[in-house]
Amino acid sequence: MAVIISKFGGTSMGDAQCMIRSAEVSVLRKASVVVVSATSGTTNDLIKLGELAEAGYLPEVEALVSKIHDRHIRISSDLAADQNSVYQVKTLLSEMNSIAHGIYLLRDCSPKAKDVLMSLGERLSSVLFTSALKTVYAKNNPAQVEVAWLDVRDVLKTDDQFGKAKPVILEISKLCESKISDVRLGKKVYVTQGFIGQTSSGATTTLGRGGSDYSAALLAEGLKADVCEIWTDVAGVATTDPRLCPEAVVIEEISFKEMSELATFGAKVLHPATLLPALRQNIPVLVASSFEPKKPGTWVRKEVKSSPLIRAMALRKKQTLITLSTPEMLQTHGFLFQIFRIFNQHKISIDAITTSEISVTVTIDATENLTDVLLKELSDMAEVKVEKDLSLISLIGNNIIHTPGLAKNIFNTIEDVNVRMICYGASIHNFCFLVDEARGAEVIQRLHKKFIG
Ligand code: ASP
Ligand code: MG
Repeated sequence: MAVIISKFGGTSMGDAQCMIRSAEVSVLRKASVVVVSATSGTTNDLIKLGELAEAGYLPEVEALVSKIHDRHIRISSDLAADQNSVYQVKTLLSEMNSIAHGIYLLRDCSPKAKDVLMSLGERLSSVLFTSALKTVYAKNNPAQVEVAWLDVRDVLKTDDQFGKAKPVILEISKLCESKISDVRLGKKVYVTQGFIGQTSSGATTTLGRGGSDYSAALLAEGLKADVCEIWTDVAGVATTDPRLCPEAVVIEEISFKEMSELATFGAKVLHPATLLPALRQNIPVLVASSFEPKKPGTWVRKEVKSSPLIRAMALRKKQTLITLSTPEMLQTHGFLFQIFRIFNQHKISIDAITTSEISVTVTIDATENLTDVLLKELSDMAEVKVEKDLSLISLIGNNIIHTPGLAKNIFNTIEDVNVRMICYGASIHNFCFLVDEARGAEVIQRLHKKFIG
């Protein structure tokens, strides 16, 4: 039997009706392993809960505990969930209550505690979804398929970087083989959690926000699955964000390499790391909407039929540009090394970079932690200038660096816009540049019209 991993995002778990709809999609598509996100809004609520508890706001903590509690109890009653599932949901909710009070009493929400707290979102939704899937299977082909809940932490092993744990690929593959490869017989379906994992010593970890897509791809890799499906609330990957540009259309097919650039440079539809495991095992990825499952969605594959010059474009807001200048860079070596060593020590991820003989500029996401200590270390080496509120515009396609006239066409289209930095030459799939955030949307609209139509 073909092995299909299907992941459903938070909105696809939004309420009982969404869960039933997603369960119908799983049955229709013959999913072997279903990976779910927390119900929509729950991860944010759990993070808030940890913050409020750590800060000592007891009434607010209790209000939020009840809100999360009620949401899950309501879904379980709307689903008419079986007794065992209701019991599991209640146990998890009381665990949440205890942890929140524990954090409150200690006034300490360490990254390790925060991961346990956040893990409850996926643990709760997966129990509810197991019940929904059992109901839908019972209607469709009774007794043919066994639906089983799986604690993904038994399989998805990670290191101990809480909040952004790295998967241990070999271990995951071994455990997939020994624990869940029975799905190949087509008689069993597992429902499990996205986003969470476990260290070798048994601590719960998370893979970073939006990490459920990544979990699905890791399980697909571990099982050498035939397909990895990402079910979300949009009908696939669009040529650009339709909220920015109404002319955007869903892309039928896109290569792994283009999609990696697109996901990294702003398209929110897929977690950027998702494609690594899929690429390693050459597993096609489908991105489609659980709300409109009849629409074809977007296929991400190694080989695709067409390779247009510009397939898509993305806008990544809230970029910070850091310029470091020093005459000491002149005709010496090791300067870039020193700078990157500092960024590395502070675990800051750099997105784009350009240099001249005596200066270098890098962009980082505004969410990165640009601390005073880091700035001090940088300013010991060079003059530092920080500019905020910029947007990175990326054009994604093929043969970008081998196409005469492309840059001219791009910049003619937006000739009245100041371009603050350009990155060109490193990738045949990507051309990107920085503009003022206030003009970002307009730049995308004009370029979309020119290159995609
Ligand atoms: N629930 C997690 C989050 O909101 C993971 C996910 O949805 O992919 O970040
Ligand atoms: Mg999500």
